[in-house]
Amino acid sequence: MTPSTIVLATRNKGKIAELAALLEGLSVAVKGLSDYPEIPEIPEDGATFEENALIKARAVCKATGLPALADDSGLAVDALSGAPGVYSARYSGEGATDERNNAKLLEALRGLPEDGRACRFVCCMALVAPDGRETTVRGEWEGRVAEAPRGEGGFGYDPLFVDLASGRHAAELTREEKNARSHRGKALRALLDVWPAFWGATA
Ligand code: IMP
Repeated sequence: MTPSTIVLATRNKGKIAELAALLEGLSVAVKGLSDYPEIPEIPEDGATFEENALIKARAVCKATGLPALADDSGLAVDALSGAPGVYSARYSGEGATDERNNAKLLEALRGLPEDGRACRFVCCMALVAPDGRETTVRGEWEGRVAEAPRGEGGFGYDPLFVDLASGRHAAELTREEKNARSHRGKALRALLDVWPAFWGATA
């Protein structure tokens, strides 16, 4: 049976609003970790995006007794063997900022021609039910690391990420354009696809 409440394993209000909008019509209330201040910081020590999403969703499901959804995302660069990957947020070390992460990425790829700068954004989401049932979905967005930032929108690596399909930097896209192509948009749509069968099977 479809749950009446789901907890998203994040304190990020933007992510909660995004998910609530997507689940509109399914009569599910979306809560976030700010509704459960007693839940301590969950260590993200998995080796993959899937593992990290599952670690977070399992911990929140266990702590609240409610179904939980968690996501983990990042940028994987071919020439760096998939780095920064699960370390995307903290690529430039202690006290990392988007600016420092982007500067470190540019430096790591310095001198590489366009065809050596392939990358993709990846987003994995894990859905965990109190009866122990679990599923994960994944979305990817193919691109290339630019040689200089461009655009004012987005966050993280968006100024350096060139969307292969349009040639535009992610930070130049509107929110709607980004959602239509992005790893997170694809993962969310994959989640909607598996949603009815997942709950139908847990009646
Ligand atoms: P998290 O999944 O929210 O922990 O995000 C991990 C990190 O990956 C972020 O801090 C960003 O550095 C990077 N990242 C994930 N998604 C995006 C995106 O859509 N644009 C730019 N950077 C992203």
